[in-house]
Amino acid sequence: MTLKLAVPNKGRLNERAVELLMMSGLDLGEEWGRRLYVSVRNQDIEVIFVRAQDIPEFVSSGAIDIGITGMDQVAESGEDVESLLELDFGHCRLCVAAPESSGIKSVNDIKDGCKVATSFPGLTKKFFDSAKKKVNIVKVSGAAEIMPYLGVSDIIVDLVSSGSTLKTNRLTVISDIMASQAIVVGNRNAVKKKKDAVLGIVDSIRSVIVGENKKYLMANVPRAKLPSVQKMFPGVAGPTVLNIAGRDDMVAVHVVIDKKEVYDSVNELKKMGATGILIIPADRLVP
Ligand code: AMP
Repeated sequence: MTLKLAVPNKGRLNERAVELLMMSGLDLGEEWGRRLYVSVRNQDIEVIFVRAQDIPEFVSSGAIDIGITGMDQVAESGEDVESLLELDFGHCRLCVAAPESSGIKSVNDIKDGCKVATSFPGLTKKFFDSAKKKVNIVKVSGAAEIMPYLGVSDIIVDLVSSGSTLKTNRLTVISDIMASQAIVVGNRNAVKKKKDAVLGIVDSIRSVIVGENKKYLMANVPRAKLPSVQKMFPGVAGPTVLNIAGRDDMVAVHVVIDKKEVYDSVNELKKMGATGILIIPADRLVP
């Protein structure tokens, strides 16, 4: 049974989503940028390129088995899908923002009848309903930031990552609605029926993300320093220690470490008299 996997066809999530699939070992061939769908070589998997905002609905209806999209899109759609994996990219926040000159500093300052431009009418309505504010939602399909300037709306609800677009348009965040990032979601039936295929992909992507934050470190260290080295790298299984032919005084140590530990670890090892320190990428880490 072919597994249908949806990926955003353009926009902010497209490139990294495709990269994660490729790094997971799925061969999309040469044509993927030009086609609406491709069959993965040597696997019973089809990758379909559709708009990020359509993916929750296609997954929920079963037209697609699993998909990569933004949490914001899933929440806005209101569709019932299973969250399978947070992908740690596409981080942003859905925020309420008002013109700096408006004097609106918090939701309390918003008057009934206030016009709110957004491409997230569902989440916006929910937010203002629960804040007991009667606002008029103006649905736009993009460029919400320009709407107060054009007089189309008084405030906006939009996605913010660095905040620079808001700043350029002299808008300021007055409240957060939700935090978002890219995720893998699945159709509830497909997750059960095609469990092995779904887990195969999800675990592979996870191993790539974990691997990207790790490095494989190798070093020759004085045997006498082994207890200190073991203390330094407690890890799950600790370091692998190997004999070096013809050297009784030194051993080779191999260990997987967090990327952020590399700098300190190398300096510590050097102080211990380590030589031949080599750091290499860990493409994937399957625990
Ligand atoms: P697209 O409209 O195809 O570019 O995809 C937009 C998706 O990218 C959103 O639904 C978010 O999940 C994600 N995203 C991440 N950061 C931002 C941002 N600053 N602005 C808009 N979308 C963002």
